Amino acid sequence: ALRTTLPPASAPSRRSVQPSAKPILEVNGMTKAFDGKCVLDGIHLAVHPGEVISIIGPSGSGKTTLIRMINGLEQMDKGEVFLSGRSFIHAGQPDYALPWRTQITKIGMVFQGFNLFPHKSVIDNLMLAPRLHFNEDPRTLRQHCLAMLDKVGMLEHAYKYPHQLSGGQQQRVAIARTLVMKPSIILFDEPTSALDPERVAEVLDVIARLAQEGITMLIVTHEMKFAFSVSDRVVFMENGHIAVDAPPAEIRQMTGSRIHAFVNDIAM
Ligand code: ADP
Repeated sequence: ALRTTLPPASAPSRRSVQPSAKPILEVNGMTKAFDGKCVLDGIHLAVHPGEVISIIGPSGSGKTTLIRMINGLEQMDKGEVFLSGRSFIHAGQPDYALPWRTQITKIGMVFQGFNLFPHKSVIDNLMLAPRLHFNEDPRTLRQHCLAMLDKVGMLEHAYKYPHQLSGGQQQRVAIARTLVMKPSIILFDEPTSALDPERVAEVLDVIARLAQEGITMLIVTHEMKFAFSVSDRVVFMENGHIAVDAPPAEIRQMTGSRIHAFVNDIAM
């Protein structure tokens, strides 16, 4: 059975997920091979407004490739991604003709390695993208950016540079930078795996708070307790397939399954 160290699934009433609503994001038949080796084999995934989905699975199972392809950071061989019912990215779309360029801001991405601009202050890291994409008065924009920094507990560090911050603080800035763009969905690619162990909790706490607020998120993670406590669904990937896609409570019942073996291995 799944270890009792995992917390119970969060109460479904905590926010207003509407499974009946149309998906914000749909992945349809996503397929990818690297050097002739199949890494993703016809992935189907639908994410509804307000849903939080964690993607777990062994290293090399295709988790990172999946979320990078959703955001157009890798080309897929077959398949299509729909955003709010409209085709967003599909196989064969050349890099240089990205008609979805302006839509890209609707998908936020938080990377393992933070990816802040090292030569820009925290506030300037936040201001950069909205300055390019929104036609907003700079003072209003700055207020909005400061409010997002406040949300992740980083307001007092607004005028520092990334090198003056811990990894956990940099990742919280990276999350605020994503929030500034008011994305429809945020993709997290192992957001805590580059952090010192004592810095993991502060970042997971911020993500959990966003989950409470109803922000739609897809999170690749090895933090099992976190995944099982914040997620509406947990997706378990193996060898380029989705082996399990179910709510935490259902997964708890799957005794003797490979997902249990995997979770127990990691969560020890
Ligand atoms: P996970 O995130 O589950 O650890 P990845 O999506 O990173 O898995 O990788 C899946 C497989 O694809 C691995 O075998 C990896 O070596 C391979 N792979 C990922 N990116 C590339 C690339 N750019 N070139 C070649 N192989 C890659």
